[in-house]
Amino acid sequence: MTKSQGQNRSRGLFATARKYMPGGVSSPVRAFQGVGCEPLVIASGRGCHVRDVDGNDYIDYVGAYGPLIAGHAHPDVIAAMTETAKDGTAFGATTEKEIDLARTICQAIPSVESVRFVNSGTEATMSAVRLARAYTGRDKIVRFEGCYHGHADGLISQAGSGLATLGLPSSPGVPTAFLAESLVAPYNDLTAVEAMFHKFQDSIAAVIVEPVAANMGVVPATKRFLDGLCSISRQAGALLIFDEVITGFRLCYGGSQELHGIRPDLTCLGKIIGGGLPIGAYGGRQEIMEMVSPAGPVYQAGTLSGNPLAAAVGLATLRLLRDGSSYARLEERSLRLSNGLRCAAADAGIPAVVNCLGSLLSLFLTDGPIVDYASAQRSDSGRYARFFSEMLAGGVYLPPSQFEAIFVSLAHGDEEIDRTIEIAEKAIRRCE
Ligand code: PLP
Repeated sequence: MTKSQGQNRSRGLFATARKYMPGGVSSPVRAFQGVGCEPLVIASGRGCHVRDVDGNDYIDYVGAYGPLIAGHAHPDVIAAMTETAKDGTAFGATTEKEIDLARTICQAIPSVESVRFVNSGTEATMSAVRLARAYTGRDKIVRFEGCYHGHADGLISQAGSGLATLGLPSSPGVPTAFLAESLVAPYNDLTAVEAMFHKFQDSIAAVIVEPVAANMGVVPATKRFLDGLCSISRQAGALLIFDEVITGFRLCYGGSQELHGIRPDLTCLGKIIGGGLPIGAYGGRQEIMEMVSPAGPVYQAGTLSGNPLAAAVGLATLRLLRDGSSYARLEERSLRLSNGLRCAAADAGIPAVVNCLGSLLSLFLTDGPIVDYASAQRSDSGRYARFFSEMLAGGVYLPPSQFEAIFVSLAHGDEEIDRTIEIAEKAIRRCE
């Protein structure tokens, strides 16, 4: 890690970025609004480090928001990408790499018998919901407060007030009519879901859920909640959709559905299956997937979908994960980090909860437990912002929002984890 060299070049470039791109970014969280400081402009990444354009090095826990479980520029990943690129980058036709990736996913996740590739997690969830509606002949979906399923119109509602309410738009430009088809329940609250099914039983097409929520900070679902969703939706003839865009191949090779022993009807994937290149996928029971065009009538298409570069990089990443010890290593280092953060906060007398599952974790600066959106919102975001800035100044790049997960990768060694804890011990004392 190098000492801070200032951030003049980063600031200058970001001023130019603001001129030509809304907010200077291509996705909102990158603007650092959640932590109120100047964003970094990144020049390069290697292993668990990134370097900004001023030459400052940081231990990186953003990991491109999830895809980089192998770390930055892993040699196998770079080799797969360069070798593949030599033969061309897109054909608008089926390729062998794409078939290999489809087979690998279906073999890893038994509930996925057939898979359709798209270009992002947003496309995956949007298309899975369309398919569920077509399959059931119903329109309404149940989703959960604090879960994020991408930015499609029908999926960015927020909870209205009261039980079993219709969603409210969380962005201007989303027609209210779209949201009438979206019911929003509190996470981990089976009673609320039962009430919704009681009221709308015959019009609910699907329940879509992050089996471990990672967009309100990391909030694991209870086994009882997921089992309950499974049985309630089955009984009502609705489909259960697991949004594993973050959790797929992150918690274990078979996704969080393997951990929980649940077979959802449809699964959405993204991030890790492309290893850092744009990709998404949705898949499930053959009988349902056979409804997707051209096998069936549900239209969905994409010029670059199943792109060979993304498939090659995804396959290289999944090969690294298949090595039996990968998940144990990830978990061991994440536990070490979460214990270190917990102790650092306790020593400084600052109330804190660290939720950690596999290599996903979040530091909530409040008393626990954190089990849903309402409890996650109690975290002291102002204090997190100060902590973030102190950590950044110390050379650690945490997610620039209280509600984004900390991602540990295979490239984080004990040395980097211990260094992070040391920096956190000092940083958190400055946030009292
Ligand atoms: N689903 C989940 C659980 C996500 O975390 C995200 C993005 O972070 C998405 C869907 C949307 O994916 P993308 O950003 O690739 O469109």
